Amino acid sequence: MKIAIMGAMPEEIEPILKKVGQYTSQEYAGNTYYEAQYAGVELVIAYSKIGKVFSALTASTMIQKFGAQQLLFSGVAGGINPKLKVGDIVVATKLCQHDLDITAFGHPYGFVPGGAVYIETDKRLCNIALSVANSMNKKVLEGVIATGDQFVANEERKNWIGTTFEADALEMEGGSVAVVCNALDIPFFILRAISDAADMDASFSFDAFLESSAEESAEFIMKMVEELGR
Ligand code: SAH
Repeated sequence: MKIAIMGAMPEEIEPILKKVGQYTSQEYAGNTYYEAQYAGVELVIAYSKIGKVFSALTASTMIQKFGAQQLLFSGVAGGINPKLKVGDIVVATKLCQHDLDITAFGHPYGFVPGGAVYIETDKRLCNIALSVANSMNKKVLEGVIATGDQFVANEERKNWIGTTFEADALEMEGGSVAVVCNALDIPFFILRAISDAADMDASFSFDAFLESSAEESAEFIMKMVEELGR
C-alpha cells in the first residue's frame, strides 16, 4: 500500500520529512516529490504550493505518476466554528469550494454541472483518526471544510462561508484535492490544525502559529500512518 501525504506549504511537510528520516527525492512538474518508508508503509510526500490549482496538480501527480492508493492531507486552516481554537484539530467529513459561483444560472453556490457541492472523505480513514485521537487523549472536531482561492481575513466573508456551507473551517486546498481523489476513486482524508480565526487578525495569528499548528497536524498524520501500517 502506497500512501500520499501532502501539504500546501514547506512548513506543513518539513516535520513529516524529519520524522521519516531517510528519503529520496524527484523533481516533477515544478515540485519535489519525496519517497520514503515509515512504519512499514511506502510513502510519497510533497507540498503543492498554495491554492486549488497547485494542489489539484500535486494530488493528481501523487496518484497517477507515483501510484499512491490513499491520500492524507496535513496542514493548517482558519477556524469558523467558535469551538475551534488555535492548535485544535479538525477532520473533514466533507469539503466544498466556497468561491465556485455560477449562481447567475440558478445553481447553488459551490456547484457546477457534473460536480457536487460537497465531496465526502473516506469514512474508514476518519474512524481511524478518531481512534488515534482517543489514544493520544486529544479532542478532534469532525466537520465541514470550505476551500477557496482566498486567504480569508474578514469576519463577514468568514460568516457567509460558515452559513452558506455550514462550514466549520476554511482553507485553500482541501476541496480541490477532494475533487481529484473522488474522480480517481482514491480514499482520502483531510486534517487541519487551526492557525487563525479567519478574522481581521488572521494574518498575524497565521504567522505566529503556522509552525506549531503545522507540527500538530503532522504529528497526528504520522500516528495515523503508524496505525495504517499495523
Ligand atoms: N503566509 C503565506 C501565505 C499563506 S496562505 C505566504 O506569504 O506565502 C494560507 C495557507 O494556510 C493556505 O495554504 C491555506 O490552506 C491555509 N489557511 C490558514 N488559514 C487560512 C485562512 N484564514 N484563509 C484561507 N486559508 C487559510
